[in-house]
Amino acid sequence: MVRTDSHEPTRATYECSDCLHRERTEGFPGLCPECGGAMRNIAVPRE
Ligand SMILES: [Zn+2]
Repeated sequence: MVRTDSHEPTRATYECSDCLHRERTEGFPGLCPECGGAMRNIAVPRE
């Protein structure tokens, strides 16, 4: 039985507030790998 939670602790998408680069990672990436800007967690729309 697959449980569908709204929060996925092992995968989250973060978006850079400066260049809008997106990273899907298991943990908080810290700074943007592209420009060094601040990454923020964003809601992931269902694909
Ligand atoms: Zn960036």
